[in-house]
Amino acid sequence: MGEKKGKRKGKEREQKKGQGKEITIALAGNPNSGKTTVFNNLTGAHQHVGNWPGVTVEKKEGVCRYGDCRIKVVDLPGVYSLTAYSIDELIARNFIVEEEPDVVVDIVDATNLERNLYLTVQLLEMGARLIIALNMMDEASERGYRIDVKHLSYHLGVPVVPMVASRDQGTEELLEEIVNIVGTESTSANCLKIDYGREVEGEIEKLERMVSQTALSRKYPPRWLAVKLLEEDEEILKKFEELDSEEILQAKDRALEHLRSVYGDDVETIIADRRYGFISGLLKDIIKRPPTPRLTWSDKLDKVIVSRWLGIPLFLAIMFAVFQFIFALSGPLMEWISAGFDWLAERAMGISPEWLGSLIGNGIIGGVGTVLTFIPPIFLLFAAIAVLEDSGYMARAAFVMDRLMHKIGLHGRSFIPMILGFGCNIPAIMATRTIENPRDRLITILINPLMSCGARLPIYTLLAAAFFPAHQGLVVFSMYLIGIILAILMASIFRRLFPGPVGHFVMELPPYRLPTARGVLLHMWERGKHFLWKAGTIIVGVVVFVWLLSSLPWGVEYASPDSWIGQLGRIIAPVFGPSGFGDWQAAVSLFFGFLAKEVVVGTMGAIFAVEEGNLGTAIASQLGWTPLIAYAFMVFALLYVPCVAAMAVIKAETGSWRWPALAIGYELTLAWIMATLVYQIGRLLGFG
Ligand code: GDP
Ligand code: MG
Repeated sequence: MGEKKGKRKGKEREQKKGQGKEITIALAGNPNSGKTTVFNNLTGAHQHVGNWPGVTVEKKEGVCRYGDCRIKVVDLPGVYSLTAYSIDELIARNFIVEEEPDVVVDIVDATNLERNLYLTVQLLEMGARLIIALNMMDEASERGYRIDVKHLSYHLGVPVVPMVASRDQGTEELLEEIVNIVGTESTSANCLKIDYGREVEGEIEKLERMVSQTALSRKYPPRWLAVKLLEEDEEILKKFEELDSEEILQAKDRALEHLRSVYGDDVETIIADRRYGFISGLLKDIIKRPPTPRLTWSDKLDKVIVSRWLGIPLFLAIMFAVFQFIFALSGPLMEWISAGFDWLAERAMGISPEWLGSLIGNGIIGGVGTVLTFIPPIFLLFAAIAVLEDSGYMARAAFVMDRLMHKIGLHGRSFIPMILGFGCNIPAIMATRTIENPRDRLITILINPLMSCGARLPIYTLLAAAFFPAHQGLVVFSMYLIGIILAILMASIFRRLFPGPVGHFVMELPPYRLPTARGVLLHMWERGKHFLWKAGTIIVGVVVFVWLLSSLPWGVEYASPDSWIGQLGRIIAPVFGPSGFGDWQAAVSLFFGFLAKEVVVGTMGAIFAVEEGNLGTAIASQLGWTPLIAYAFMVFALLYVPCVAAMAVIKAETGSWRWPALAIGYELTLAWIMATLVYQIGRLLGFG
């Protein structure tokens, strides 16, 4: 067991120097420890979401008032460790060192102390002024764990606040501790010292002495720097290189050589083992668990849900059920909305001058109104995804699919971003930053746009209702399936193109939880509001532009083949002849859909004259499409390009335009080949 230091003094606590101040606190913790829940409890609705400087990783900030204190709360990315291997971990670490928050609140999942305390220990070694929020106390006691909170606090020398964040229990106590601890003497002079064993300690001591002479030791605790040198932390090595500290780097090499000769093992592993050793010693002291772990109902459920044979069929069945549910519920709602817009469009067409009526009726209501008609299925999809995520099922789905991914040699974490792609590819692509191996990460980014996002749903919904009225759920489900299968296929191709070792990662399964209505609605709204925002900005813009092209040259019949848009479409359309949809209207819809995939139906809404019935039937009658052609079109729309925003994110995350360019290139090719195969094979089979 290591030494315990930095114990808070009772006297200072009473001074309450923290009051009346501006305080900055950072929330740190493992993924799924309840960080977001605590953040919401503290800040309510007053939060600001941006990006971390320099990287497109979400940064959440909020403000909370307690007494006469104004507390700025920063939500750090969820991490297991503080190495320099992943962007997330680096962000968390740099924030603590460089921004020097007054307090770091470490959210610890009480049901999984071994793993959670690994981060805690590293935060303490870094000399962060820490408060431990011991969360999920309800689940811990359900499992029969008895945790001695006082003892934990004593051993680590920091306050520990037991919490049940999901029921907002412990928030007051946490705030009180925060205000109390600010103003007490900083603990950074006496950080937690893990005993790394005589040999390692000897080397740490030597390095520590040298490091103390450098400017870096003003920012970082010298001992921590010494340990990081022995771990060969890239970021810290870089900093010493910049300082031209040849001497220190050589001393490090000598130390490592010596330790390797003694242990015959990787020094980083020895250090990690010692930290875990410290934690397991600590746990023996502070936690009592029932002798035989109770098999929770969560464990029992998992026997079925992630089983080798049932796992994948169950995943498919659940997805299928989701789409059945979405269409059963959204059909009537869409009809009402659509009828409302028809009524409005009719009124608008009467407005004079005629061009204004046409702009509003044909362009804006025809285009944007059409897109908005799809609010019900899109919001229901997002709600369904939220339920699956919050209940813990999505993690299982990723786990189940992961086994498949492993067979083709892809990194274990790759499926989580893929599943996130069902909502929107942009956050999904950002989520790949948890993948440490850059090659695996790149592949996961490149295949992500094949996962069918919410913006593509309007296209499927529109065409499935018109061409496959009896099998809407099945048809849409098949699109998602094609996306997954091709993503896996492309991953295995990319994997051959960029060979290298496969990283390993043990995926964890959070316990099942009953989703709360508030959580589901919040998640649905967070995703859905992007859709509304896009409808009000980019889609309005494109649709007005489409209207203009449809109305020019002056005096042309609106959206006729001779209008500018018709001329543009006729240039592109022949490319799609072999795929069955070589109509200029389809071509321009796809063309503008480059910007955002909702624009595909928006453009169709603006250029089709819908006299009777709905847009889908208008497409069927005016273009003479068969169900086979509609299906080929859907396949093309599923695959053909990432939207502009997704391309920008790929560029930001990979640092080079080469990769979005590759994504566009391979997706266009793949889309054309697949759509053509569907159409040609379908015709041979007599579906044409
Ligand atoms: P994050 O990944 O750290 O941001 O974790 P979240 O805040 O998203 O929480 C993960 C899940 O744990 C959510 O379903 C929460 O509702 C749930 N949760 C959070 N705190 C508690 C708690 O104290 N008890 C229980 N039973 N569940 C909790
Ligand atoms: Mg979170």
